[in-house]
Amino acid sequence: MHRFASLISDFVQQKPTRLPILVSGTAITLATVSASITVAFGLHHNGALFIATALFISCAIAIPAGIIHYLREVEIAAHQEKLQELAATDALTGIMNRRTFERLAEKERARMARSGETAAIILFDLDWFKSINDNFGHAAGDEVLKTVAGLAGGVLRRPLDALARWGGEEFAILLSGVTSEQAYAVTERLRRIIDVAAFENIAPGLSVSASFGVTSFTANTPLRHALSEADRALYEAKKEGRNCTVCRTDTEQKVIALMR
Ligand code: GH3
Ligand code: MG
Ligand code: MG
Repeated sequence: MHRFASLISDFVQQKPTRLPILVSGTAITLATVSASITVAFGLHHNGALFIATALFISCAIAIPAGIIHYLREVEIAAHQEKLQELAATDALTGIMNRRTFERLAEKERARMARSGETAAIILFDLDWFKSINDNFGHAAGDEVLKTVAGLAGGVLRRPLDALARWGGEEFAILLSGVTSEQAYAVTERLRRIIDVAAFENIAPGLSVSASFGVTSFTANTPLRHALSEADRALYEAKKEGRNCTVCRTDTEQKVIALMR
């Protein structure tokens, strides 16, 4: 009995919309069975009419109740999905937020442990963004963030690559299945794309650049370590004069590309 109850509970928990169907179906079945038993034991003189009436009354109650309950469950499920989506994304740019990125990167590390692949993390931060806000207004700054998110999204290739708003005017990218050279090439491509992109439609005279820190990692590298390596590389890129990329690995630290 306990096993049956837990089977039913699992069945409903997998999909809550099953509950109203189950309840209404059970109500109709019980009404039909009990009416049939009543007739079978000769407890009612007009069997057919009695069963039909019992069935009609139970259907008249159970079906509308089931439909209302079902629609409510569908509404709740859609609402929950929307909330989960909102909790996972950054409201301004529509890309994933830091928490979602970290969860995804951990999943990717688990996959890498099986595949033996390497991956890379890029952290980049817009240069002199405070001045952009000061000179062109906060709304223009917001538009820049949205445009940059779009440009960065364009360099992602594999379905397991990810782009997140790390916070403020800082973004993170996960490149799966790449060597450090490939990661560096992607980073430089994005750096140039942002550097030459036209932001004139947001405000005349507006140009934007970003500084990049890149690090490659394997499944053996704790995510926290990879992130702090990328962060250190980004910090060095700022120190090197901005609008450049610094690539760090576990063993070596090198400034590969500098501002043109
Ligand atoms: P650096 O080159 O050293 O990175 O200089 P910076 O001016 O970009 O860095 P700083 O940390 O001094 O300023 C970051 C600015 O980003 C300050 C903050 O108001 C702005 N900012 C953070 N989030 C948002 C946002 O959502 N929208 C806008 N418009 N501005 C934001
Ligand atoms: Mg900045
Ligand atoms: Mg910053």
